[in-house]
Amino acid sequence: MKSPVQTVIIHHTALRYCDSVSQLAHIQHMHMQERGFDDIGYNFLISGDGMVYEGRGWGIVGAHAKEHNFNSVGIAFMGNFNDEMPSSAAQSALLRLLHIGVLHGHVWPNFVLEGHRDVAKTECPGEYLYALLPKLRDQLQNQ
Ligand SMILES: [Zn+2]
Repeated sequence: MKSPVQTVIIHHTALRYCDSVSQLAHIQHMHMQERGFDDIGYNFLISGDGMVYEGRGWGIVGAHAKEHNFNSVGIAFMGNFNDEMPSSAAQSALLRLLHIGVLHGHVWPNFVLEGHRDVAKTECPGEYLYALLPKLRDQLQNQ
């Protein structure tokens, strides 16, 4: 993928939070066996305890938002955020991850942060996480 990208797209996995490692294995199985992807579709995943897991990583085209995979990074919060807020640990993990992405030239300094539903017909990334995006945008600007 051509770096730096101008858009970061936020997702949720829409799966109940269990422990991160078994959820990761489950997502990888769904994406590779059931959807036929080469690997987990997201570039990164963030768990409720604030850990960041590398899916495809930086610079690799993901499979997370049809027609936008070639010019965006897809980051999924693990859990279902139609019912609850992402933890503050997960929120600050996102800010740290994007800070590093900008520092290392993977993401434009003035990138656009969007929810999956901004670019596709989906409820993803859930009501609560979507409602949080303006606050995260503010925090990113002041970072
Ligand atoms: Zn999504």
